Amino acid sequence: MTQDWRTSTRNHLLLNRSRAAVWHPCTQMKQHETLPLIPVARAQGCWLYDFDGRRYLDAVSSWWVNLFGHSHARINAALRDQLDTLEHAMLAGFTHGPVVELSERLSKLAGGKLGHCFYGSDGASSVEIALKMSFHYWRNSGEPLKTHFISLKGSYHGETLGALSVTDVALFKDTYAPLLRTSAQVPSPDWRLAEPGETPRDYALRAARALEAHLQQHHATTAALIVEPLVQGATGMAMYDAAYLTEARALCDRYRVHLIADEIMTGFGRTGTFFAHEQAEVVPDFLCLSKGITGGYLPLSVVMTTDAIYAAFYDDSVTRGFLHSHSYTGNALACRAALATLDIFETENVIGANRQTSAKITAACEAIARHPRVRNFRQHGMIWAFEVDTDDPTFARNFHQRALEKELLLRPIGNTVYFMPPYVITDEEIAQLTRGTRELLDS
Ligand SMILES: *Cc1c(COP(=O)(O)O)cnc(C)c1O
Repeated sequence: MTQDWRTSTRNHLLLNRSRAAVWHPCTQMKQHETLPLIPVARAQGCWLYDFDGRRYLDAVSSWWVNLFGHSHARINAALRDQLDTLEHAMLAGFTHGPVVELSERLSKLAGGKLGHCFYGSDGASSVEIALKMSFHYWRNSGEPLKTHFISLKGSYHGETLGALSVTDVALFKDTYAPLLRTSAQVPSPDWRLAEPGETPRDYALRAARALEAHLQQHHATTAALIVEPLVQGATGMAMYDAAYLTEARALCDRYRVHLIADEIMTGFGRTGTFFAHEQAEVVPDFLCLSKGITGGYLPLSVVMTTDAIYAAFYDDSVTRGFLHSHSYTGNALACRAALATLDIFETENVIGANRQTSAKITAACEAIARHPRVRNFRQHGMIWAFEVDTDDPTFARNFHQRALEKELLLRPIGNTVYFMPPYVITDEEIAQLTRGTRELLDS
């Protein structure tokens, strides 16, 4: 007889059952013969708790989704209210208050230029939607040759087949290469690649020239360029100067190629402005959002686009329309969690408060930044990253494991350690995070 996990006070029961029945994501399951899974019994604020009272500081915001901590009173209350009103209804032929209000508010936040919101269930599905919409737009506009996509070296846009086609992370992509459509990768503006003496801005402009050279040759067959604005996350928090985006926007306009901003990770204040692309003072043709959109509560994604693109689908012909769908499109509970998240942004001056929190964390990182094993210490908004000098191929796993012993949830990417904490991290938690990390570097 299996024991009810709700009443279990024993971690190991849940671990063994999880190993047997759950195929965990992004994981070689055999490694869990020696590395224990961490059972989460409950979570509050920046902390995850197991059944035995051990706790872990969620310094990666549970895979970059959480904004205001776990079990947030305002989001909880909004969800309870929504649960008693409408949990879900199909969005084809029907509509509801939360999805309408969310679309209107997101459009306003995006400067009023992206007035049409198409919903998906997770980040990768929003990338699929943007790629299909861009392709279909050109087809509807009498340019059926514009079928190819460009992304940056080291890009990450999700792992479904279309999204993986524009992703450039070998670990996730190489195995599936025969299944994927090829796309072109242009040099990343990642400032770590700058020559000595070259500023991040100079290097970003040089990378933009490479994009220009590609477009000059291939614009007639190119539908869109997809970028992660300012920070390329999954490749290891590569950061770059906003000048690249300004140039990319101008080049996309000149060569009639769409610009897709994948702000699945960078949106909702993570890079210091509400959307990262604001820092380049540009408007993309498509904006993909997910992760933080529900404050880290529920899966939801959205692709926002312009009147001009929307108009190319608006027709008497059914097949000129965008017939894409997901069963849970515009789920009412998820939309309501997103509305509660936007309420918090509006009433609590989150962007301003983050500026102070960010300065505090950077100051607390001083000893890390000048640690002899640390390279390329960098920060953008509420993201910090650095490389650790090591030739240990199992560094990421070992560091993760040792960090847990210090109550820290950290998941390095290769030898890149990063912090992406919930915005509500306290002074005491910042001290524990930076002190623990420094001690790990010392050992
Ligand atoms: C996480 C992420 C995705 C994929 O989102 P999922 O919800 O994991 O499918 C796509 N693009 C970027 C930039 C991401 O960080």
